Amino acid sequence: MQRAASSAKLRKLPSVDEVLKAATAVAAAERFGRSAVVAAVRASIGEARKRGNNAEFTSSDDFARASLARLEADAEPKLKPIFNLTGTVLHTNLGRALLAEAAVAAATRAMRGYASLEFDLATGKRGERDDHLRGLLIELTGAEDATVVNNNAAAVLLVLNSLAKGKESIISRGELIEIGGAFRMPEIMNRAGTKLHEIGTTNRTHKKDYTAALGPKAGLVLKVHTSNYKIRGFVAEVAPRDLATIAKAKNVPFVHDLGSGMLVDLARWGLPHEPTVAEALKDGADLVTFSGDKLLGGPQAGFVVGRKDLIARVNRNPMKRALRVDKIRIAALEETLKLYRDPDRLAERLPTLRLLARQRKEIEKLAAKLLPHIAEKMPGEITAEIVRCTSQIGSGSLPTETLESAGISLKPVKKQGAGRMLEHIAAALRRLPVPVIGRIDNDALVLDLRCLERDDDFIANLKHLDLAGGADARS
Ligand SMILES: *Cc1c(COP(=O)(O)O)cnc(C)c1O
Repeated sequence: MQRAASSAKLRKLPSVDEVLKAATAVAAAERFGRSAVVAAVRASIGEARKRGNNAEFTSSDDFARASLARLEADAEPKLKPIFNLTGTVLHTNLGRALLAEAAVAAATRAMRGYASLEFDLATGKRGERDDHLRGLLIELTGAEDATVVNNNAAAVLLVLNSLAKGKESIISRGELIEIGGAFRMPEIMNRAGTKLHEIGTTNRTHKKDYTAALGPKAGLVLKVHTSNYKIRGFVAEVAPRDLATIAKAKNVPFVHDLGSGMLVDLARWGLPHEPTVAEALKDGADLVTFSGDKLLGGPQAGFVVGRKDLIARVNRNPMKRALRVDKIRIAALEETLKLYRDPDRLAERLPTLRLLARQRKEIEKLAAKLLPHIAEKMPGEITAEIVRCTSQIGSGSLPTETLESAGISLKPVKKQGAGRMLEHIAAALRRLPVPVIGRIDNDALVLDLRCLERDDDFIANLKHLDLAGGADARS
């Protein structure tokens, strides 16, 4: 019986051609092109057939509308702008640094037109793409020379391969880091063709450990900023200055991977001190590697600065070509770096620093402005209130330091089912036209407002919040 009924409905499915004639399909073809519409109509009919057409769609127009919805959903960008209310300023999963306006403008110009990327305008001859940044990097760090690659992971890989291929790279066991995304120092060394020579222990490494390791096979000494963790207690590490002396005595390059790396002292903005690139060089590093899109506040990039002869070796490595940066990022980097010439106005112009330096008082004011708009949208079972919280710098910078912040806490009134309720609200916030990402902290969903600047856009976006929607609606 049932089978007969369902095949009768199936017979009623319209043909692709019939659906294409529907007004909605004609309009869809205007927007998305005929072939995309044909494919979407086929898919919609195919799905209905698979479901045994449950009679929800009957007319051609129903199918045309379903096809349009499919096309519209597909047209949504996969990489979406979001509101980062996690409280982590440099959030790797959410795109790290926001670029300064000058950098955005320069990148846009570079995208639209030709540029003097590898062309020397003075001589009319071929130029070097790194030259646009080299001067600035030298000026800002005091290095002899500098080069730029895709990211800091690439910078480390390239330096290891250029200076220590077939030789040993000496590193303390306390610094054999893993940073996110499968970047593990021992594996990187392996891929770079250098032999890991680990010394000391997890918590203590001494000068004599380095001295003993510096034999004829030594290619370089590497010090790695333990960006995303801190070892406390009974610990000992060798200061960079001493390490430089030890390496120099054996004529082996000393490379310092700073990770985030900063060009100015953050203490100036009341932030915890992070060693600057200039300090690392002054302390005797032969090469320093650091990121473009962490504390520096630029686009993704990796820098290698230091001794001219070593930079020349890095640049001669054929791998450099595979790791180079394009004109768009060079344009953005140039403008980002230029901002460091005027540290007095840096916090105004560089979003990363502006967000990091934001005072709790200012964030609390913002919370007071937003609270009624958020509270109004919450069901009775949820209380919304202003709370003090702590933000993080993120991207492995200063992992144990936090910044005093404020936000809005959304908390279920009843303990029972609270976890599910919080997930439900978090999911609804993620479904907004501009998804809002908060952080679940114990029994509350906290929206840390440190990184929110466009508050009017945020309020307008919030109007679309639909707490009833979603497959997992409260039950
Ligand atoms: C972040 C980091 C890297 C990798 O830098 P990316 O720019 O993310 O590639 C390398 N080393 C250290 C110590 C880091 O903190």
